[in-house]
Amino acid sequence: MSAEKLKPGETAVVVIDMLNDFVTGALKCERAQMIIPNIKALVEAARRAGAHVVYSNDAHSNQDHEIEVAWAPHAMAGTEGAQVIAELAPAPGDHVSSKTTYSGFYGTDLDKYLKRKGITTLVLTGLHTDCCVRHTAADAFFRGYRVVVPPDCVQAFTDEAHTAGLEYLKFWYKAETPSSSELVRSMS
Ligand code: ZN
Repeated sequence: MSAEKLKPGETAVVVIDMLNDFVTGALKCERAQMIIPNIKALVEAARRAGAHVVYSNDAHSNQDHEIEVAWAPHAMAGTEGAQVIAELAPAPGDHVSSKTTYSGFYGTDLDKYLKRKGITTLVLTGLHTDCCVRHTAADAFFRGYRVVVPPDCVQAFTDEAHTAGLEYLKFWYKAETPSSSELVRSMS
């Protein structure tokens, strides 16, 4: 990485919405397939290096505003669709945080967990570059976290949405965008 090296103890790799419903189910995104191996390599490197791994997962109820006004039911709490895909299943010691809308911080335990662990840097991965990654990045920026988004670990419904999403993150939140292999190298 050109920028300051990551300190594993102060870094969390955050895996956002890599759930059955987003990858193969109700809100399937074909383009998610291409990021699975990159995220897998990154979370494995993070665990080895002593960095934190956090999952930020939709776990909806019918009363969630998002389900009432925006989207068909997806990732309903307790269902198979709300489970992390088998390839990226959480390991012992990882933190799993449930959310009810786009941001991983909104109404969740995430900020408290990160602060308690002394985490200052978030490496955001998962779906979608222009929605849940974007809104989680916004809340991370507002709270003073350093935001890193490896472009080969996030995706969206279209290439245009993905590319525009990345540009937005870089421009507004000064997101750093090293590749996942650069990050793996910097952690090993
Ligand atoms: Zn949702």
